[in-house]
Amino acid sequence: MSLIEIRTRLDAALAAAGRAAGSVTLLAVSKLQPDAKVLQSLQAGQRAFGENYVQETAAKWPAFRTQFPDAKVHMIGPLQTNKAKQAVELFDAIHTLDRASLAEKLAKLAQARGQSPDLFVQVNTGEEPQKAGILPAGLDNFLKDCHAMDLTPQGLMCIPPDGEDPTPHFHMLAGMAARHGLSGLSMGMSSDFELAVALGATHVRVGSAIFGARPTA
Ligand SMILES: *Cc1c(COP(=O)(O)O)cnc(C)c1O
Repeated sequence: MSLIEIRTRLDAALAAAGRAAGSVTLLAVSKLQPDAKVLQSLQAGQRAFGENYVQETAAKWPAFRTQFPDAKVHMIGPLQTNKAKQAVELFDAIHTLDRASLAEKLAKLAQARGQSPDLFVQVNTGEEPQKAGILPAGLDNFLKDCHAMDLTPQGLMCIPPDGEDPTPHFHMLAGMAARHGLSGLSMGMSSDFELAVALGATHVRVGSAIFGARPTA
């Protein structure tokens, strides 16, 4: 497992960017990875994880949380509205708030429970038709709608188009977050997390570089 190597590279990227040590949360993306590898990383001190599937998380995390009560799990996959209730009970943060119907559901759940996971709005920076996320031009209105429902996203998240230089996408996301006074920036994966750190990421989502290639589902 390359957790130590990734931590070393993350620390170096922070130092190179003149940023404080520890100012980025490394989310170890454990979707589809064998439990033994996840356990190994927990035993090595990793405490923040990314998962993509509600079902998998429900099966896997309650037992890990009993053993490691300070572990945090972030939802980074698309969230169906009919799984939102389960999701707010399972996750400490949701990075994929990507549409009004989900915002409405999460707002109702937050009112009923008196608490909400941290929320990141997913922005479709590449304006890809097949990809989830709020279009850049629609972000102002979407955030206004969220606030009108007493929902307060803490940050923005993006997944740049495959095979493209992510630089302009990370820049765009950082600019939008700054304009809206949002402190969280969820960007950067195995192949580009150092660049994301240089451009202001507060959460990087690194899977295969830590755990190895995912078994195909
Ligand atoms: C799977 C996934 C990752 C991790 O990808 P790697 O390339 O394995 O680091 C990061 N972000 C999202 C949204 C993912 O679905």
